Amino acid sequence: MLDQKDGQPTLVAQTSDKADHPHRLVVIHSGKRFVQQDHPGMGGKPDRHAERPQMALRQVRGKLITDRLKPQKIDDIIGGFAKFRLIRAGFVFVNSDFHDWPWLETSCHDPSHGHAVPLSRSDWCEALNKMFAQLHETGGPVTIEMHDHVESGEYRTPVWYLYSRPGSYDEKWAYEFMWKTYSDLLSQKLFALYHLRKAEPVPLFLHMNMISDNENALAFWYVASCVHHIGVGGALKASPAVFEGYRRAIALYNRHFEEFTQGQFIGIDELAHLHIHPNRLSAVLVCFNLKDAPEERDIQLDIGRAAPDVAAMGLQSDAAVQTGGDGWCVRACVGAKDVSVISLKFLP
Ligand SMILES: [Zn+2]
Repeated sequence: MLDQKDGQPTLVAQTSDKADHPHRLVVIHSGKRFVQQDHPGMGGKPDRHAERPQMALRQVRGKLITDRLKPQKIDDIIGGFAKFRLIRAGFVFVNSDFHDWPWLETSCHDPSHGHAVPLSRSDWCEALNKMFAQLHETGGPVTIEMHDHVESGEYRTPVWYLYSRPGSYDEKWAYEFMWKTYSDLLSQKLFALYHLRKAEPVPLFLHMNMISDNENALAFWYVASCVHHIGVGGALKASPAVFEGYRRAIALYNRHFEEFTQGQFIGIDELAHLHIHPNRLSAVLVCFNLKDAPEERDIQLDIGRAAPDVAAMGLQSDAAVQTGGDGWCVRACVGAKDVSVISLKFLP
């Protein structure tokens, strides 16, 4: 699909009959040949999340396109890439990372480029957003995910930085929780995603490693509940028990796909999340247990202020429910280091 030779920034996207292949992930790291990873979906079977082509493009490491190329050349690459090749080739997701530039000592001092001398970080960030706007202007159904405007691995800009600009990126990277997601959850570092979801309107994306998880897919559920867009890697190296756990988890996740990705998120606390369906007639309550022993927990859903239309309706669920307070109290029975996904139906 894409070719990168000898470290040169030659990005060649070809119209491909594989553009609609549901199990193809292409990741490009600058200076390396492309890495192709098959089956980002589960078990090679289509899942709802993988219905759109999962093609991720990691570009553009700044040093490749700064002092070695003239601005017109950069415009040619970006313009041709965006308008005539990338979208036409069927790309629907751009994973934008490794913008490690400019550091003060290496910034561009060439006055012929038309930017301030030396090039400032803010001008650099604006230029990246300009590229995003050009991609969106093609009218193609592309979703752009942004890691950070000035660095990778560490994050120098706020999660909302330049998000509100016309044509800006659509999703923000959910930090480095992709590596040790399970242990990050047990140590409560992963709670940061919960608070981010509550505080910021920017949709989050995370591609996580299932190898780090347990067979209940505990970390998967936590991430899936906190971000709008989740990807999973490591399927080929996972143990059969974890793989089977993910197969079941993703099937259940897909049944509640609208609630998780388009619904109203109400954070009860770090370990109990409510997602109300956009049609306001159903919801899913996700309850996490990080302990080594099973747990019964009564979760008070006081949603009268956050969702008064829903609170005024009746509630039906397989879980035990009591009416009271500003809503309902739902009993969740959760296994050790497990999650309970409780389906709720509202009765007008
Ligand atoms: Zn320059």
